Amino acid sequence: MVQPPPAERFHRRFLDELPGDPATAAAPRAVVGAAWSRVQPTPVAAPHLLAFSHRLAAELGLAGGLELDPSTAAVLGGNALWPGMDPYAANYGGHQFGHWAGQLGDGRAIVLGELRRPDGAIAELQLKGAGPTAYSRRGDGRAVLRSSIREFLCSEAMHALGVPTTRALSLVATGDQVVRDMFYDGNARPEPGAIVCRVAPSFLRFGNYELPSARGDVALLRTLVDFTLRHHFPELGTPARDAYAALLRAVAERTARLIAHWQAIGFVHGVMNTDNLSMLGLTIDYGPYGWIDDFDLGWTPNTTDAAQRRYAFGNQPTIGLWNVMRLGEALLPLVDGAESVVEEALAAYDATYSGEATRRFAAKLGLTFSAGEDDGALLRDLFTWLQKTGIDMTLFFRSLSRVVVAAAAPSTLPEAIVAACYREPDADDRAAGVSWLQRWWRRTRRESRPAAELAVAMDRVNPRFVLRNWLAQEAIDAAHGGSAEKVARLLEVMARPFDEQPQHADLAAKRPDWARDKPGCSALSCSS
Ligand code: AMP
Ligand code: MG
Repeated sequence: MVQPPPAERFHRRFLDELPGDPATAAAPRAVVGAAWSRVQPTPVAAPHLLAFSHRLAAELGLAGGLELDPSTAAVLGGNALWPGMDPYAANYGGHQFGHWAGQLGDGRAIVLGELRRPDGAIAELQLKGAGPTAYSRRGDGRAVLRSSIREFLCSEAMHALGVPTTRALSLVATGDQVVRDMFYDGNARPEPGAIVCRVAPSFLRFGNYELPSARGDVALLRTLVDFTLRHHFPELGTPARDAYAALLRAVAERTARLIAHWQAIGFVHGVMNTDNLSMLGLTIDYGPYGWIDDFDLGWTPNTTDAAQRRYAFGNQPTIGLWNVMRLGEALLPLVDGAESVVEEALAAYDATYSGEATRRFAAKLGLTFSAGEDDGALLRDLFTWLQKTGIDMTLFFRSLSRVVVAAAAPSTLPEAIVAACYREPDADDRAAGVSWLQRWWRRTRRESRPAAELAVAMDRVNPRFVLRNWLAQEAIDAAHGGSAEKVARLLEVMARPFDEQPQHADLAAKRPDWARDKPGCSALSCSS
């Protein structure tokens, strides 16, 4: 039998250093004055490992072959614990769709323990869908297979793209059915249930701080912020007023950097409520997220947000700022109500976002933006053209490395770019596209590096593979049919998103027609 990690490798900082809820029943309740509630995962009928991230397991220092042991599926499915694990659910609140929602908390996530990694860092292991907690409100604490596949695959794909994110170790089928009304239209039906084991240095969200602050519980707020500084931002110094201000600023900057990265790869989170914004600047809570196929700043994958479009692609940077403002307000009691602290953090967010977004998009074009050039206009004109033609974002940027090495500026729209359009480009689109490409191609000649080098650098930032919605949906359909092979294939291919991998060209294709309006491919609900 392959040994699980020894008990000494599990730590209990969250449990030992933050106040807990004395009650232990999983019954829904208001939890006041506490950052967590103890809870045991609820056993499932037949835990079965469907997919496993060997890369993450190695980083965590788990023994090779551990995943083959049936007792591992039992632990990752919530039916057993390894020695040293002491599970709990975290207490937090949040602003949902612009409105204060009060206490939310881990309604279906349970932290099993804090594992010390071989590199010394701590990784929290958290099961999502492991049964009810004190925070489940009217929910069942479960997750369905389709949303679990999406979270499992996207977590690992984002990591491979270099985007800060929570990770996913495992995907376990529970053998139980979960009833969901997928589109809130009265058509509730049973679906297979699943559990993902998520992994992160911390799952702390903006909402963890907002809740005690909204309740006037400054003591808990301070304990939590001091804890955060001590373990996650030690470089900001001893907890005190200056460190609190520096923390807000650091979180603002991390959030801005994260969202600039999302924009650059066409990732739309879908539910940027403050309970889904990580204090560490990680992508967290993969729900109705989506990837941009045809470039559209107004697109949102989330049907719950279809009318308002609050969390649409082009709104993400502004929403990030709005969320930092809510965090800033929550921390005000710790900085003597000094609004200037919040204003400085918001200014830092703006500066960081525009710097990072510019840098990332410049790199996508093989450019180092410089003062003597009209690079801002070049980028704005590109966005206008992308939005008007609705071309595939990923394919368009990836195709540019082939254009940059051409001996002359293009005189017609390159075939790869025509092929990346979802509708035949008309004469105007073609003329505007060629004229933009010519401007850009000439501009690349004023870079200090030769075109061949630019092409290599561009292919390192313009992914060939992203977890397109329809790809995830194909893997989901196959899994519902009993095969997890497509999940395994996507996990492997998405682990090398910048490599050409010609044998997997079918996974780099633009969205097929059948997927355009299919649920799961273009529209997703929060109900998962
Ligand atoms: P989300 O939109 O997934 O970030 O969830 C928002 C809140 O609803 C969080 O407090 C979740 O824990 C809770 N929640 C979502 N789904 C369930 C469920 N099936 N059972 C219990 N709580 C849930
Ligand atoms: Mg959430």
